[in-house]
Amino acid sequence: MIFPWLDTAWKQCLAGRQRAHHALLIHGPAGIGKSAFASRLAQALLCEAPRTDGAPCDACDACRWFAERNHPDFRLLAPAAAEEARENAAEGDGDGGQGAAAPATRAGSRASREIRIDQVRALERFTEVGGHRGGAKVVLIDPADALNTAAANALLKTLEEPTRGTRFLLVTARPDALPATVRSRCSALALPLPAPEAAVQWLAADADVGATEARAWLAAAGGAPLRARRFADPAHAAVHRLVVETLAALPETGVVRAADALAGVEPPVWVAALQSWVVDLQRVCAGAEPRYFPERADRLHALSRRTGLAALERLASRLDGVARAVEHPLNPRLMLEDALLGVREAFAG
Ligand SMILES: [Zn+2]
Repeated sequence: MIFPWLDTAWKQCLAGRQRAHHALLIHGPAGIGKSAFASRLAQALLCEAPRTDGAPCDACDACRWFAERNHPDFRLLAPAAAEEARENAAEGDGDGGQGAAAPATRAGSRASREIRIDQVRALERFTEVGGHRGGAKVVLIDPADALNTAAANALLKTLEEPTRGTRFLLVTARPDALPATVRSRCSALALPLPAPEAAVQWLAADADVGATEARAWLAAAGGAPLRARRFADPAHAAVHRLVVETLAALPETGVVRAADALAGVEPPVWVAALQSWVVDLQRVCAGAEPRYFPERADRLHALSRRTGLAALERLASRLDGVARAVEHPLNPRLMLEDALLGVREAFAG
C-alpha cells in the first residue's frame, strides 16, 4: 500500500521518467513506508493491465501472483532473518528496522542479517533468461544496505550490464552505507517524512490514541509514522516506557540496577532509545529544545547542567560503536553495562 504522505511521490514516480530507469534507489528515513512503496512499484511494473495513471490493477494474473508472492518474473533479495520476520509478521512492512524483527531472529547469525553473494549469483540466471510473461522482470533488494561487500560487488556487474527488461529496485534508509559504485548506477528517489500534523492525525486514527499521545510517539520516533506506530502498540509502548524511565533515572540509579531493569529488552531497542536520549541531552546543552523526548524536558534540562557537550560527544561516539555491534553482540549484558558506564562517566565530571 501507499501511505498517504507518500502519495505525491507515488504519482510523480508513476508519471515520471524514473519509472523507466533500470535501477531505482528508493531512500528516506526508517519507518515511513519505503518497503511498501517499493513493493507496490514492483507490482505496477509487472501488472499486465495497469490503470491509466500507471498504478497496478489488482485484478490481472500478474497482480494476483504478485499478491501470492508467486510471480515468476519477480525476485526479492533480503537477509534470511528479515524474510523470516516478514513471514511471521502480520503487517510485514519491514520498514523501520529497529525493534521490528521477531525476538527469535535477533539471535540469528551474522550471515542471516546480510544479503550474501550466493543470493546475488542466483539472480544471474534469472536476469539472463527471458521473462515468463514477456514483460518486465523485477528484482527488489530490501534493505540494500544489507548487501555485504562481496554481494555488492557481484550486483555491480549486473547493474553495469543491464539485461533488457530487468528492473532493480533498491530500498535503504542508509544510502551512504552502499558502495558509491552501486549508488552511481541508480537513479535516486528520496521519500519524505510526512508533515508533523498530518502524521499526528494518521497515527491517532491508526493506533486509536489521542493527539497528545500520538505527538509523543512521533517525537520519540523522530517523526517517522510507522516507527511511531510500533511504539504505540501496547506491548512496545510498555517496553519503551520502561526504557525511557530507566534512562531518565540515570545516573542516580547506578549501572547495575539500570542494567537489571533493561536486561529483558532487545539491544536494538534500548540502544536506539539511548542514542535518542543523548541527542536530546546534546540539544538541551546547546540551548535547543529536545526533539525525541519533549515530555521529559524538565529532566533533560536538570541533567544538562551536570554534564557538557564534550562529555556528551564522547558518549555519543561510544554509543555509535555499540550500535554497530548491536545485531550480534558477543555478550549482551556486557554491552549494556558498558553503555551505561559511558552514561555515568558523562556525568562524572
Ligand atoms: Zn494487474
